[in-house]
Amino acid sequence: MGWGAGRGGCISMVEAILFDLDETLYAPGALLIQAVDRAITAFVAQRLSLDWKRADALRVRLWTEHGATVRGLQMLCDCEPRDLHAFCAKRVDPADYLAPDPTLRTCLAALAPAKYVFTNAAQRYSRQALTALGVADLFRGVFAVEFMGYRPKPDPLPYRWVLDALAVAPEHVLMVDDNPPNLRPAAQLGMRTLLVGSRPDPDGHPRVPSVLEVSHAL
Ligand SMILES: [Mg+2]
Repeated sequence: MGWGAGRGGCISMVEAILFDLDETLYAPGALLIQAVDRAITAFVAQRLSLDWKRADALRVRLWTEHGATVRGLQMLCDCEPRDLHAFCAKRVDPADYLAPDPTLRTCLAALAPAKYVFTNAAQRYSRQALTALGVADLFRGVFAVEFMGYRPKPDPLPYRWVLDALAVAPEHVLMVDDNPPNLRPAAQLGMRTLLVGSRPDPDGHPRVPSVLEVSHAL
């Protein structure tokens, strides 16, 4: 088990760690996320009959405003999230872009708390990505968008469902994510939070430059 400073300066034990997947377990800007973004842009272009440039700009805007492009699309055009995930699954295989990462494996294996993935991606894609990185066996479970009822982070509801499934008090759960808005509901529910990477963060979550340094925060 990992130990660290909890709220109010008391020491609390971390029993479970929730890792985001994309751009948390692998580097931001990797070829995989570029391929995913291209597939989402293609879906937006097709669904809304937009040229590529406009579709790509809309994808970025919806992601920025809603935390997940699919959330914005649902409001904009009554898009069915399953359709977007199916569309992307046909076009992107994480195995084409990710390779086994022995350093990541060593760092994750050294973390004693139970490890889970909590991602807005689909279950199949997530399993493919974890397998490609060579770390699938280190995770006790994957909370993917199907588990979340297609209500992606930062919708607060799936965070409650994840806590219920874990049956661990929120103060003993650490959430690790590269996207600051995704950490806000976790903190509001009493979870510990850790921001990975360099995105601007108005909430001031504890931060590490990469997932390889999560152990330093425990
Ligand atoms: Mg991410």
